[in-house]
Amino acid sequence: MKGNLKFFYMNFNATTSFKHVSYLWDEKVATELNNDQVALLIYRSNLLGSDLRLTNYGGGNTSCKVFSKDPLTGNSTEVMWIKGSGGDLRSLKKSGLAALYMDRLNALKKIYRGLEFEDEMVEYLNHCIYDLNSRAPSIDTPLHAFLPFKHIDHLHPDAAIAIAASKDGKKINEKLFEGKIGWVDWQRPGFDLGLKLENCFQENPGIKGILLGGHGLFTWGDTAYESYVNTLEVIEKYADYLSRMEGKVKPIFGGNKITSLDKEDRKKQAALLAPVFRGFCSNQTRMIGHFTDDEKVLEFINSNDVERLAAMGTSCPDHFLRTKIAPLVVKLTPDEDLSDSIVLKQKLTAAFDAYRNYYSNYYSVHKHTNSPPMRDANPVIILYPGVGMFSFAKDKATARIAAEFYINAINVMRGAESVSEYVSLPLQEAFDIEYWLLEEAKLQRMPKPGALAGKIALVTGSAGGIGKAIAQKLAIEGACVVVTDINPGRLTDTAEEFNKKTGKDTFITFLMDVTKEDDIERCFREIVLAFGGVDIIVNNAGISISKTITETTLHDWDLLQSILVKGQFAISKAALRIMRQQSLDGDIVNIVSKNALVSGPNNAAYGTAKAAQLHMSRLMAAELGADKIRVNVINPDAVIQGSNIWAGGWANGRAEAYGITVEELPDYYAKRTLLREAILPADIANAVFAFVGGLLPKSTGNILNVDGGVAAAFVR
Ligand SMILES: [Zn+2]
Repeated sequence: MKGNLKFFYMNFNATTSFKHVSYLWDEKVATELNNDQVALLIYRSNLLGSDLRLTNYGGGNTSCKVFSKDPLTGNSTEVMWIKGSGGDLRSLKKSGLAALYMDRLNALKKIYRGLEFEDEMVEYLNHCIYDLNSRAPSIDTPLHAFLPFKHIDHLHPDAAIAIAASKDGKKINEKLFEGKIGWVDWQRPGFDLGLKLENCFQENPGIKGILLGGHGLFTWGDTAYESYVNTLEVIEKYADYLSRMEGKVKPIFGGNKITSLDKEDRKKQAALLAPVFRGFCSNQTRMIGHFTDDEKVLEFINSNDVERLAAMGTSCPDHFLRTKIAPLVVKLTPDEDLSDSIVLKQKLTAAFDAYRNYYSNYYSVHKHTNSPPMRDANPVIILYPGVGMFSFAKDKATARIAAEFYINAINVMRGAESVSEYVSLPLQEAFDIEYWLLEEAKLQRMPKPGALAGKIALVTGSAGGIGKAIAQKLAIEGACVVVTDINPGRLTDTAEEFNKKTGKDTFITFLMDVTKEDDIERCFREIVLAFGGVDIIVNNAGISISKTITETTLHDWDLLQSILVKGQFAISKAALRIMRQQSLDGDIVNIVSKNALVSGPNNAAYGTAKAAQLHMSRLMAAELGADKIRVNVINPDAVIQGSNIWAGGWANGRAEAYGITVEELPDYYAKRTLLREAILPADIANAVFAFVGGLLPKSTGNILNVDGGVAAAFVR
């Protein structure tokens, strides 16, 4: 038997070539799973989830049914293992599954009171749980339970949804598969849709899958492998049909209306607009942005049909839950002069007001007496013809995924319009999903955001020492951080570290010399393209030189003035432009030094530069109050751990001067303080957080000493 199976797989591999989906099954890996059906389910799910043409991020679910021993009776009982609520197929693990008794699931049919009471069935699913480590069962559980197959895949492939969301979808589906794929009209997922699927199969016993109107696809098989191949074959067929049809009968999206700017100019325009959009989108909650000028996006937004189709809204519930029912299409010409942000804001105010009115109208027309309160009325997706697509959400990952989902929606509209006419969900249906009490409960269950969620922070000189500690602290508290440094090697290492600790969406790195205006300009352009704007600036980059007046060269002098003083000024000035474009409050925190206040020998050049940084901070605080931009100072002293300044000759020099070893330095410095404490990078990071974490919104022009207590450095 095993030999035969192997032959079948090999045969299959040799004769089948998929063009539109990826065949990833590795029989060697599958064999090692020893016929463990749950392991095979997970393996298959991971393969399906890793091809975004098969399903969107987090979309769809898979299941298998196996006989297991009932721990209560010792008898063999049928158990369904199914992806639980939340999570993504690509990274699905056993902990992401729910396991439920099939006999209990079937028994629920007897107590089901009808569509009006459908939501109460979700509670009952919990009574059917077999494995006590189960993830919460998803709303889709009955859809799998009532189909009599060992292995089932439910996916959201763009190619299949394109047919499912077209006016003649049912007819096209029937013809394309000669009746072998069933059809069930659009209905919100839940217990009742499970019964509809069961009914569809009973009426069409030979089918090998079911297309759900406006939603997605069900396919199945007797084994994990058969289900996998069936799923690929069916989706391949939809995709192949579309690729043959697209652009044949009529031009795609009604043909091109405008031409894109070239890539460089698109980025320039996007960088000017992103902070302004962010300001509008953040009038209730501060949002993080994402920008893409993907070819698929440009084809859609430059077309004749963009306004008609965008206004119709998206179809698959997964799409609009992430993107909102419709995007905002801005009426700016691609090469519009965007240089004056005040004029630009005037131009856009009406567009945002209109969108918010449209949304609150959609809410009040469709709401029920028990609907949750209206959520943020700002657009999530903003389309700028000729330039690209912006998305805004509570964090970077959510903004990026929203953009990916809108590209899914574009694919669906493209396909549907090529073979028929695109139909979106009726608005009441869309509303009922968006404000579904079960969806609201899911939102309420989400972890509370960090203190800096929605904030974007730039920390200069942050690939090591104090700077890195600050950047990490801000990232851990929920901010998106921009790590910059002059040293490429340290920057690469820090990027790896951040990737592991906080994930790729939480940071970007940028090689920057804070004394170079070009570097600074490019850095801020990267920031606004990556995150939409900036809220927190930490001027930390610095060097130190300790010499007598006689030894200090004019080059030393210029270097300190340039990096410490000019650098702080130039970065703050560039940030101010973005902060004003956003019209949101912000923070500038300058890492100065005890030496700005305390005079001692061998420090004329360094101490003067530090004093200049300190006074510049006060001057900026005085000027920027009206913009709600706070400017505060932290004065650290003798932070040795991880410091670049202390590496190399400097520490040796100091140790020698005090007649001790380098290892004894921290202790030596600690003993000089009132609190007898050594100062660590984390102490400075906490001080920055104290200023920007939300508890001191009314404090500006302050100096916070973090030096263990040095009486000479007390502010008078
Ligand atoms: Zn679905």
